[in-house]
Amino acid sequence: MQKIILALVFALLQLSAYAQQHRWQQRVEYTMDVKLNTSTHRLTGTQKLTYYNNSPDTLDKVYYHLYFNAFQPGSMMDVRSRTIADPDPRVTDRISKLKPDEIGYQHIASLKQNGRDVSWHVSGTVLEVTLRKPLLPGDKAVFDMAFEAQVPVQIRRSGRNNREGISYSMTQWYPKMAEYDHRGWHTYPYIGREFHAVWGDFNVKITLDPSFIVAGTGVLQNPQEIGHGYEKPGTAVKRPKGDLTWHFVAKDVHDFAWAADPDYTHEVVQVPDGPTVRFFYQPGEKTTQNWTRLKDFAVRYFQYMNRHFGKYPYETYSIIQGGDGGMEYPMCTLITGERSMGSLAGVTAHEISHSWYQGVLAINEGLYAWMDEGFTDFTANEAIADIFEQEGNPHENAYAGYFALIKNGLFEPAGQHSDHFSTNRAYSVAAYAMGAIFLHQLKYVIGEENVYKGLRRFYYTWKFQHPEPNDFIRVMERVSGIQLQWYLRYFVYTTKTIDYGIKAVVEDEGNTFVTIARKGEFPMPVDLVVTYKDGTRELYYIPLNEMMGSKPVEDTEMMRTDLVAWPWVNPTYTVRIGRASKEISSIEIDPSQRLADVDRQDNRIDLTQPPKAYEDPTTSGANDR
Ligand SMILES: [Zn+2]
Repeated sequence: MQKIILALVFALLQLSAYAQQHRWQQRVEYTMDVKLNTSTHRLTGTQKLTYYNNSPDTLDKVYYHLYFNAFQPGSMMDVRSRTIADPDPRVTDRISKLKPDEIGYQHIASLKQNGRDVSWHVSGTVLEVTLRKPLLPGDKAVFDMAFEAQVPVQIRRSGRNNREGISYSMTQWYPKMAEYDHRGWHTYPYIGREFHAVWGDFNVKITLDPSFIVAGTGVLQNPQEIGHGYEKPGTAVKRPKGDLTWHFVAKDVHDFAWAADPDYTHEVVQVPDGPTVRFFYQPGEKTTQNWTRLKDFAVRYFQYMNRHFGKYPYETYSIIQGGDGGMEYPMCTLITGERSMGSLAGVTAHEISHSWYQGVLAINEGLYAWMDEGFTDFTANEAIADIFEQEGNPHENAYAGYFALIKNGLFEPAGQHSDHFSTNRAYSVAAYAMGAIFLHQLKYVIGEENVYKGLRRFYYTWKFQHPEPNDFIRVMERVSGIQLQWYLRYFVYTTKTIDYGIKAVVEDEGNTFVTIARKGEFPMPVDLVVTYKDGTRELYYIPLNEMMGSKPVEDTEMMRTDLVAWPWVNPTYTVRIGRASKEISSIEIDPSQRLADVDRQDNRIDLTQPPKAYEDPTTSGANDR
């Protein structure tokens, strides 16, 4: 009996060990009630924030982000934008020229912890709060705040009157609790780049002039009072007199964004087995036709993403004209709307894909932009290629941008904080292009099917948490049975590059010996494909010793010979082909071109033709979106 009980306890312990394999995380519950004065562009409001300290640490302080404070002359964002070598053309010196009624700010009028005043200190975009009573592990605190904000003239993302005449793009508009996790506080001063925040629920009431239509994160709770396309189709709307209060609730999100404009039209489509997608834009010559066509595209896009990368978990998603380009928020995006169809579909694709990586997985965009932006771009490139039936490598531009950056000498490690790259260009290649290459090249390392299977498993394992690079690699290792730490280290934390070449081909007693040289410091497995004159092809597969395994067969049409692993220290490796060279038409390293080999000139030898002039594949332009 005791034995059985012990066995049961052991089984339960095992189960809970599995359930707790993920890290602890803090939690927030925001209740906000704000009023926007549309003539002064000022916002006053209250915020009740219940903060759950699920950490094992006692907290003496908490920190909030006050992002609007970045839009003031002399702010860190202003200085950075005026001093970086290649400033964002949307910002440059515009912050330095803002007048007092054009700047942004968030002023704290009062702040209480569990009903008692606390002291605080504002430093730029960060509010530091010294707690009245330390917050113990497992305990919670209620922070009651009254605040006033001025919505800045739009410089970057947030603000009033964007260049297409959208009245309010309200992103990072409220004092927002910073994230505290096993790495400590994430209180990055805002200089115009990425965000990271705490998981939780938002209950938000926004009151403003009744002529405005509001769109944003969450589900509208009072559609029959609001109307404007939110009401049940065919039902009457009972709108109260005076200002309208819009009540939104969003659960399991880490941010809340909204936009408001009197001229929005609101159109709705339903994705089969997916969310209700809402479109908000100002109808006109430059928008109506393309935004109408966008509906079908968005439906197909969600279907593709659901099928390949895991199911979108919320009931709605809103595509909102606003902001200054395209920016992702939970359950919505703000994009500029006066675009060609290709550009509109492209930006929408990218932002919808963010729902998986920034929205649901909430990868820390500051620390791991290559995962957030890169995985987003990877899925967007593949979905677009599928929907528009495009042939070829959908990530070709990513490779071209990466190679060009290396050539220009601007390449920096992808694994550094987004704010700290020396140039915007290096950041954008590291984040967008290298992240996409990381996954496409991973197909080369562990096989295509494993990558898709792993991406889905990663999504379902880590949704509503904040996974990190190692968490992703562990999932991929378990899916493929191949060790991958070396791949993460080299690709993300160094500027070492991949370069293999065929050094020599010699014949001896009816065998052909091919010597491959590792010219770059970044070691990789090698696919050496031999095409025989009889038309057959054979893969000589050389795993890297650090993999401690081999990828599965990818192409069942091709013969495959598995060779002994290549110890990464060895500069060369010789392959014996059991046929005479006169039977061979060509020998090539990675004909799939998934390997980010910086010099492909010597990757192929044609044994039937005289050598051809080399064409540089890296000069076809950079992906600098
Ligand atoms: Zn993005």
